[in-house]
Amino acid sequence: MKQVTDSTKTGDYQGTHADKNAQNGTNITIDELQNNPLTQSEKIKVGIIGGGLMGMALAYRISEQNASVKVFERDSQLGGLSTHYNYGNFTWDKFYHVIVPTDGSLINLIKDIGLEESLNWSRSYTGYYVNKSFHSLNSPKEFLLFPLLNIFDKVRLVFTIFYGGKIKNWKKLEKVTVKDWLIRMGGKKNFNKFWEPLLLAKLGENYKRVSAVFIWTYIRRLFKAREHPVEKDFMGYVSGGYKTVFDRLEQSLTKNNSSVILNTSVKSIRPLEGGGIEVQYDDTVEYFDKVVFTAPVNVLEQVTSPELCEIVKNDKPIEYLGVVCLALITKTPLTPFYVLNMGDVTSPFTGVIGISTLVDPKQTAGEYITFFPKYIPAEHHYWKASDEDIEKTFMAGVRDLYPEFKDADIVSTHINRAFKVQPLQVLNYSNIVPEIKTKHPDFFVLNTSQFVNDSVNNNFVVTHVNSFMKRFAAELKTEATRHTN
Ligand SMILES: Cc1cc2nc3c(=O)[nH]c(=O)nc-3n(C[C@H](O)[C@H](O)[C@H](O)COP(=O)(O)OP(=O)(O)OC[C@H]3O[C@@H](n4cnc5c(N)ncnc54)[C@H](O)[C@@H]3O)c2cc1C
Repeated sequence: MKQVTDSTKTGDYQGTHADKNAQNGTNITIDELQNNPLTQSEKIKVGIIGGGLMGMALAYRISEQNASVKVFERDSQLGGLSTHYNYGNFTWDKFYHVIVPTDGSLINLIKDIGLEESLNWSRSYTGYYVNKSFHSLNSPKEFLLFPLLNIFDKVRLVFTIFYGGKIKNWKKLEKVTVKDWLIRMGGKKNFNKFWEPLLLAKLGENYKRVSAVFIWTYIRRLFKAREHPVEKDFMGYVSGGYKTVFDRLEQSLTKNNSSVILNTSVKSIRPLEGGGIEVQYDDTVEYFDKVVFTAPVNVLEQVTSPELCEIVKNDKPIEYLGVVCLALITKTPLTPFYVLNMGDVTSPFTGVIGISTLVDPKQTAGEYITFFPKYIPAEHHYWKASDEDIEKTFMAGVRDLYPEFKDADIVSTHINRAFKVQPLQVLNYSNIVPEIKTKHPDFFVLNTSQFVNDSVNNNFVVTHVNSFMKRFAAELKTEATRHTN
């Protein structure tokens, strides 16, 4: 087995900056370190497992703190669930991703890496498909004219949204299903005509087991103060999609003497006597001063030794939702809506996402992408179905929804899948989330499994990274002092 050694551990390096400071009896602070950089060989080495947004945003922030970071990614490209995909004539996000004006932490990260100029905003339009007809719901006038609800229902609907936005104690909402809560607040008709299509688009039929925390996080996101001075109905994307973001994060790492290693599945993570952590991948073992794990909990269980962390599980297992998604590339636009919420439960997909209503077609070789997702649990038969069969079923649904659609308009079709996208936030979810207890001062876990009062989204990911960094900067400072002594 190959050993990637650290010269500071093997004692085969001499006379460095740190030694000199140590000999002079001085301690270095993080600020001093930034003004008086350490040489590459004496930098604090941090290993990060997972090259999704959590891992890469974290790697970027740590590498800015004068540490040398190495990111391990299992796949052949960075991005995890936010990764890119080759659609033939252009590359875009594999799954639809948008930025909303309230995504403050994410927007600040985009600014920090110098991509503010590449951030574009477009007006987003929402549609409803109920009783076999399309309804646009994008202005107070359209809301007042929305034929499926009477004025009394509409007042109750506005009250539900307003009241939901004011709730602070989300724990209470964990005890009631989203359906019961919404019916209690706004009545059955509002639920059937307005909320159910929205829930189906987001969660499929699985919404029936989800608590009211889900809709609370959704309403709160709408009500939060906007971090970008665009209208609230606008949505954003970075030119070139998330690929641009990950490319820039990787370039920033390289500039800071840090690196990414792709196609590398970490096999084991073990503590070392006297401090530090050993990471094993392929046939190589590498030493790090600190390791942060950002991949899913099931991988954590497989690769970490019990001295590093304990996962305290509840009797009730966490159910995850995955997604099967048709990306239909067409010569002309298919839908005027960014999102079409579907009240039609017989449709093979649970929503229609017209990403090309936001993204300038110049970005996508003059072609248009429409995504047709279906959110499904682990036991769903679609996981065993072939891409061809899923495509046939979904395309039949497309033709049913848009009878005027012509096959001659199709450029290509693509079926993409992600097995674990988000945990199903069932009743009392925060009590059943496995508790991750790290037991070693040099090992840290930061992943989306612990999100109990928000949906899995990239703004929340970056917010988590930022609050982790407040603690981790102190760890780096202590480690820097250790390196100098
Ligand atoms: C259909 C869909 C639509 C979405 N839309 C939006 C949206 O509009 N806006 C938004 O903000 N968010 C959206 N999201 C959510 C967003 O993609 C996630 O919040 C985000 O990708 C989570 O990032 P992460 O780094 O925590 O996890 P992941 O992206 O899952 O990254 C974890 C990484 O760890 C790697 N890994 C696993 N095991 C190992 C191992 N042993 N060794 C090395 N590496 C390993 C994986 O390959 C992966 O790259 C969407 C997601 C989906 C699926």
